[in-house]
Amino acid sequence: MNVTGEPSFRESVDLMFNRASALMNLSPGLEQKIRVCNSTYTVRFGVRLRGKIETFTGYRSVHSEHMEPVKGGIRYAINVSQDEVEALAALMTYKCALVETPFGGSKGGLCIDPRAWDEHELELITRRFAYELIKRDLIHPAQNVPAPDMGTGEREMAWIVDQYARMNTTDINAKACVTGKPLNSGGIRGRVEATGRGVQYALQEFFRHKEDVALARLSGTLDGKTAVVQGLGNVGYHAAKFLSEEDGVKIVAAIERDGAVVDASGLNIEELKQWIAANGGVKGFPGAQYVEDGASLLEHDCDILIPAAMEGVIHKGNADRIRAPLIIEAANGPITFGADEILRAKGIVIIPDMYANAGGVTVSYFEWVKNLSHIRFGRMQRRAEEARSRLLVAELERLSGDEGLGWELKPNFKDKFLTGSDELALVRSGLDDTMRTAYQSMREVWHGRNDVTDLRVAAYIVAISRVAETYRSKGL
Ligand code: NAD
Repeated sequence: MNVTGEPSFRESVDLMFNRASALMNLSPGLEQKIRVCNSTYTVRFGVRLRGKIETFTGYRSVHSEHMEPVKGGIRYAINVSQDEVEALAALMTYKCALVETPFGGSKGGLCIDPRAWDEHELELITRRFAYELIKRDLIHPAQNVPAPDMGTGEREMAWIVDQYARMNTTDINAKACVTGKPLNSGGIRGRVEATGRGVQYALQEFFRHKEDVALARLSGTLDGKTAVVQGLGNVGYHAAKFLSEEDGVKIVAAIERDGAVVDASGLNIEELKQWIAANGGVKGFPGAQYVEDGASLLEHDCDILIPAAMEGVIHKGNADRIRAPLIIEAANGPITFGADEILRAKGIVIIPDMYANAGGVTVSYFEWVKNLSHIRFGRMQRRAEEARSRLLVAELERLSGDEGLGWELKPNFKDKFLTGSDELALVRSGLDDTMRTAYQSMREVWHGRNDVTDLRVAAYIVAISRVAETYRSKGL
């Protein structure tokens, strides 16, 4: 139990698992095997900083090794705990199964406030933490492949891959030991934006299904819908940016650590992000109303609520006041088990974290494959594709010419058709396909069974079935 009397994050994930497994025909032994966390390694290490030894505590939890490598981010936050990394590692197992990335689930965390240290100090701390994990194969291209999460990004991943390469000088696949790296360290185009982009693709797919939209008491398309976003970090910023700039969604409120800003006509997310970078928070953003009690804006009137900051923000204490008919869990675990029950009773449709934020691990999978194949996606076929398109365009032009059929090619058609797919286009295509396919697999269970009434249980059933299948094929 936590301070609000609700189950802890890990207990919440287990309770959600239990809701689904109760509807499945798993043997108790197999159910237990899938649910429990295989191992959690705790490390305490010292780094000499500012003239004295500072001791840090970090974790790497492996939830399930039904497929290897196991995969999951490394989080830097002051409140990181064993309970939290185990909950997040379990979610990774189910997430990977749902979106068909061939990994088991893992997660890591370091108890640290990254804003309290300068860049050079963070590098020393990260390298030391990575050293501890690498020497136990808890970072390894074939066994355990971390990625960024809250408080970490490309910079930390670049330090980790370099540390691994220094300790494994003859490993030709060294770059595949971690994903979310910058391009020049073996990263892939489209990884930084991937989780937010995946949130956008998830909503686009949801709105393709009129029946599902109606269940959320909404109608029409994304265009003109209002949304509130919590957290303008990697996930929230990209999701809000793409939804507002490309799909016509109005972001009517954005919640950050220092409060929230509200603008009924829709916030300009790019300008707001720059404001935060320059001023350290949302307060004072021109043209918007500032509200000090940011979390109260979770209860604001809007069509779509996008919690994209952290876990447990929608709990028994505020769930009843949530007004959005549709919530997409861009963060991991933003809704507690108790709040989930209240929201479902109110008829609110929840697109669950396990699916909604799977864009990150999906593109991480593409990055890992790129690293193992040692070649950029599109490098072999892009120009061949363009050459074939050129042939077709030349023939169309001949047919539409003076002596031909008199057809006219649309302006821009030629340029668009002649452009072969580069790495970014291929990554986005693969991500879009993944998000569509995974949604449809959840949807089949949601609508295909009388005993399944929400997308979360549907997602768990799909994921648990796939993990169970892998165990069964291994003879368990
Ligand atoms: P981040 O550190 O880049 O951003 C988090 C943002 O939330 C920051 O802007 C921070 O200021 C804000 N924030 C923190 N506490 C807040 C509070 N109490 N109220 C309002 N805002 C607050 O982290 P991220 O990578 O964007 O991760 C956010 C969530 O998404 C986490 O739950 C993470 O596990 C999940 N996630 C991230 C990825 C990824 O690829 N980065 C992938 C899947 C899931």
